Amino acid sequence: MTKEKQPPQASSGRMTKERFEKMKEIRNELLNFKESPLYEYRTKNKYFPVVGEGSHVAHIMFIGEAPGKNEAQTGRPFCGRAGALLDELLLSISLPRENVYITNIVKDRPPENRDPTPEEIKFYAPFLDRQLSIIKPHVIVTLGRFSMEYIMTRYGLARRLGSIGAIHGELFIATLPYGKVLLMPMYHPAASIYNKGTKKYLEEDFKKLKKSLDELPKS
Ligand code: URA
Repeated sequence: MTKEKQPPQASSGRMTKERFEKMKEIRNELLNFKESPLYEYRTKNKYFPVVGEGSHVAHIMFIGEAPGKNEAQTGRPFCGRAGALLDELLLSISLPRENVYITNIVKDRPPENRDPTPEEIKFYAPFLDRQLSIIKPHVIVTLGRFSMEYIMTRYGLARRLGSIGAIHGELFIATLPYGKVLLMPMYHPAASIYNKGTKKYLEEDFKKLKKSLDELPKS
């Protein structure tokens, strides 16, 4: 990684193709999984599952909560109001959206944008685990408390877990099956739509993220 810029995303074509195929498998499984707790709601509304978007060789993965209506209608994560704010935050640290990978813990839209249930998280989280193993990011940013709680509990940081108000912007080291990964929990961008004070925290945390990225060894 260069000091001035974000990582170049060049990679061998074969690796990229393999990763693409594995992601496609995930998408097909999600599309056809009738046991999914949100399958009926999705098909009735002609929504898409939202698998994720971005570089399959990304060094950073952003993990949100669940698709909203815009996302479910297009199949793209963070393409509504919260997405516009995420884009603004990425731009503020000169991190091109196409260089990162953006996904959610829950892959289908919960009705009326309600919080995901523990049952939904349990069902969809293994897909997220597989995406992590495919992309193998060096840095994970969780957006909101659901992905924060899942990632910290699952990957060796259960004892460090606190409220998002207490631990947002802190840097942790998570232990994934493929190695150690930097983890920074952040508020969900949607929270700042309703609470302007939260936007300041997000802006500050993105600056901290940039500093950590600049300090990572070149790879
Ligand atoms: N909120 C999320 O958590 N994810 C999206 O993709 C959109 C809004």
